[in-house]
Amino acid sequence: MTQILKGKPVLDALNEKLKVDIERLNASGIYPTLGIVRVGEKPEDVAYERGVTKRAETIGVNVKNYLYSGNIEQDVLAEELKKISNDDTIHGVLLLRPLPAHIDEKIVCRQLAPSKDVDGITVTSMTGVYSGFDFGYPPCTAAACIEILKFYGIELKGKRAVVVGRSLVVGKPVAMMLLKEDATVTICHTKTVDLPQICKEADILIAASGQAKSIDSRYFNSEQVVIDVGINVGDDGNIICGDVDFSAADGNVKAVTPVPGGVGTVTTAILLKHVVEAAGKR
Ligand code: NDP
Repeated sequence: MTQILKGKPVLDALNEKLKVDIERLNASGIYPTLGIVRVGEKPEDVAYERGVTKRAETIGVNVKNYLYSGNIEQDVLAEELKKISNDDTIHGVLLLRPLPAHIDEKIVCRQLAPSKDVDGITVTSMTGVYSGFDFGYPPCTAAACIEILKFYGIELKGKRAVVVGRSLVVGKPVAMMLLKEDATVTICHTKTVDLPQICKEADILIAASGQAKSIDSRYFNSEQVVIDVGINVGDDGNIICGDVDFSAADGNVKAVTPVPGGVGTVTTAILLKHVVEAAGKR
């Protein structure tokens, strides 16, 4: 029988620990605070911001929301981000991306202090992930994958891990984090030849292609643990499925994360964990 690796128990465990850490910080007059920067009104950004704000407030992390017009000039946004980053009352900053096409994210992101980069978007944070040294914060989604695997006691050392996707947000960082855990890692992308066969040989399969239900029965083996990072939304903005064909995985692999209710559920908790850690480093 396939084990369903639900995000909720992972979230609950993270939250229990966070609540203790937050109480300890509050006792010494520190109130962990997250700044969320949103540019424009994209429904998925609005929904994510609302979800993060609610979760943060539930566990005792303060949130300050910064909203800018979708037409904002790059220099103006960069200057605003610099101001937010320099605000001593804010411990971590979440910049909702992708930014509008006329803005160069690399230039804007430079204004964010690495110590407040709780979603791993600055070059300094990336250096921490890609060097394997312990500094900065990894991207939350990548960290959520590892958190789920560890929570459910899934052995990584010496295992063959295959990551489908090579973005800086998910694919590459999760591959580096698996490598740090001594897995043997293969990264796949659109030019990979014979993707199904490579995936079939994996002990751990991470699906982050952004292609709804594209990882199907051709990619699985019965001893495999499948982590579905994908979030594919319907016309109403609700999440309908992941990048894995869940019905094909259920019954044919050892374990699989559901969508919704898997990686996405844990991602926000990781973000808040990073904010609390950043607050504790003051
Ligand atoms: P991107 O579109 O930035 O990257 C997709 C990657 O998948 C690229 O490297 C691309 O290869 C590769 N790819 C696309 N199609 C195929 C294919 N047919 N075969 C093999 N490789 C393919 O997406 P993201 O990394 O930002 O997101 C990936 C998924 O994760 C999406 O479903 C997204 O919604 C979800 N997501 C979930 C989050 C969460 O918290 N759960 C947070 C962020 C994202 P190439 O480089 O060659 O183009």
